[in-house]
Order: sequence, then C-alpha cells, then structure tokens
Amino acid sequence: MAVATRPSVCAGCGQPVAAGDAFCPVCGTRLVPDRPMPVRVGPADTERAARSTNGWLLAALVVTALVLAVAGLVGAWIGAQVAEVDPGGAAGDGDAAAAESMDA
Ligand SMILES: [Zn+2]
Repeated sequence: MAVATRPSVCAGCGQPVAAGDAFCPVCGTRLVPDRPMPVRVGPADTERAARSTNGWLLAALVVTALVLAVAGLVGAWIGAQVAEVDPGGAAGDGDAAAAESMDA
C-alpha cells in the first residue's frame, strides 16, 4: 500500500485520519498533498468537458464543411447540367424549326 505517501494525521487539526481518506473527517482539510490526483479531478473533468465540446464543435464544423462541399459540388453539377441543357434545348428547337422549315 502507498500509505507512506499520505499523512497519518491531519495537517489541519492534527487528528489521526485513515490512510484512504481524501479529506479530514474532523476539519475537512485535504489529506493528499503529495498526490495531485484529487486536485486534478476538477481540471480533468473540465478538460474532458472542453474536449468533448471541442469534439462536437469539430464534428459540427466537419459536417458543415462536408455539407457545403457537397452542396457546392451539386450546385456546380446542376450548373453544368443546366449549361449543357440550355444549348441542347436551343439546338433541339433549332433542329425542330429546321425540320419544320424543311418539311414546309
Ligand atoms: Zn483535520
């Protein structure tokens, strides 16, 4: 056991405390000065929450970028289709008119 790393008496009130106690049961003083684990719990949770938030933000950004990229590709494709259809339609009309004129 790593009992030696923890004080057997409270640094705040001097009362004997259990080795596994993180806080003095008498005065509430933190009993783990050598181990920053309890101190790291708060920041770690905050970091995890921040990382999670960043992850969601990154995911949202990636999804948005993908949607924009797909929308841009689709828009470009539609533009290309429209650009191809317009001349084709005009040519078709011209052919039809030409055929009509030829028939007439
Ligand atoms: Zn104490």
